[in-house]
Amino acid sequence: MAPVPKNLQVLGDELAIAWADGAESYLKLTDLRRLCPCAECQGERDLLGRLMKPPARPLTAESYQVRGTSPVGGYALQIFWGDGHADGLYTYLKLREWGKNPPELPPLGPAFPLLPVR
Ligand SMILES: [Zn+2]
Repeated sequence: MAPVPKNLQVLGDELAIAWADGAESYLKLTDLRRLCPCAECQGERDLLGRLMKPPARPLTAESYQVRGTSPVGGYALQIFWGDGHADGLYTYLKLREWGKNPPELPPLGPAFPLLPVR
């Protein structure tokens, strides 16, 4: 049974999710953006999961701001980022898991500058 958010809100530099079962997750916006599951952001990987082609999109300070969110099909969340990007669908399952166990982040590179949020 997939987790379902009861309420979600951007608090400072985090996305706070209150789940229907009473649990809460706090996810850093910078991490969420770096983990954007869309093909463009994830780059190309070989069969072993090694990154062959890094993501091309340069990120700016706006890239780490959230303009809005929208539930998709009862299983995922679409995040509208400040730079207009909104291709990634974050499944509730993943968001819930990331809240419990901080995920391994993709490597920082020229396309992924780590910018101060404020
Ligand atoms: Zn993306």
